[in-house]
Amino acid sequence: MRMRKMRNLEPRMEKCAAYRIDQPETLRGNWRSLKPDCTALWVEVGCGKGKFITETALLHPECDFIAMELVTDVILLALERAAALPDGCPPNLRFINGNAGHLTEIFEPDSVSRIFLNFSDPWPKARHTKRRLTYSSFLEKYKNVLTSDGELIIKTDNDDFFDFSLSELARCGWTICAVTRDLHNSTYAADNVMTEYETAFSARGKNINYVLARIPGES
Ligand code: SAM
Repeated sequence: MRMRKMRNLEPRMEKCAAYRIDQPETLRGNWRSLKPDCTALWVEVGCGKGKFITETALLHPECDFIAMELVTDVILLALERAAALPDGCPPNLRFINGNAGHLTEIFEPDSVSRIFLNFSDPWPKARHTKRRLTYSSFLEKYKNVLTSDGELIIKTDNDDFFDFSLSELARCGWTICAVTRDLHNSTYAADNVMTEYETAFSARGKNINYVLARIPGES
C-alpha cells in the first residue's frame, strides 16, 4: 500500500495510544488477561486501513481482536477509523504496529484461534518469494501460535498468489476446509466482511479467492 508521508503523524498516533499495544512481547502468555471473558483471540495480519477488523470486532464482541500492520502511516488510519466510531474503538480490538515475522515472539503457542490474511502483498517476483505471507516460514509461525482447531483464512484478488498459497499449504500439510475462487458468489459470501482492497477489486469485477485452512494434523 503506497502512502504519502502522513502529516502530524506523532501527535495523531499519540491520540490513539489507548488503542495500541506498543510492547506486545510483554503480553506474551497473558493475552487472556486483557479481556478474560473473551472466548477466542483472532488476529489480522496486514490490517491496512482497518475496515475489516473493526467491523468484525463489532460483530463478535465475544472475541478479542488484534490487528497487526507493518506501516505506521497505514495503521494510523486504522486507529483513527476505530476511534471515530460513535462509542470509540471497540473494547475487544487493539492494534500492533509490527511485523508478522515477530508473531511467535508476541503470541504464545496454542493461543490464537483465527488468523486472517486479507489481500496480502503478492510479491510476484520469484526472488521475493520468501516475503509472501503464505511462504512456508510464515505458515510455520501461524501453526505455532494457532490453537489445535485454529483457522487460517486467506482472501486475495491475486490468482497467482492464491495458487502459490494453496500449494504452500498443501506442501506444509495444512487441511483445506473451505475453498473458492469466487467468494462473493459462493456459500461463504453470507458471513463475509469486506476489506478496503476487496471493495475496490470487486467493484472492478475481479473474482475474490478464499481459503480456510486448519493446521497440519487437524481436520
Ligand atoms: N488487509 C487490507 C485490505 O484488504 O484492504 C490491506 C491490504 S494491503 C495490500 C497489505 C497490507 O499488509 C499493507 O498495509 C502492508 O503494510 C501490510 N503488511 C505487509 N507485510 C506485512 C507484515 N510482514 N506484517 C504486518 N503487515 C504487513
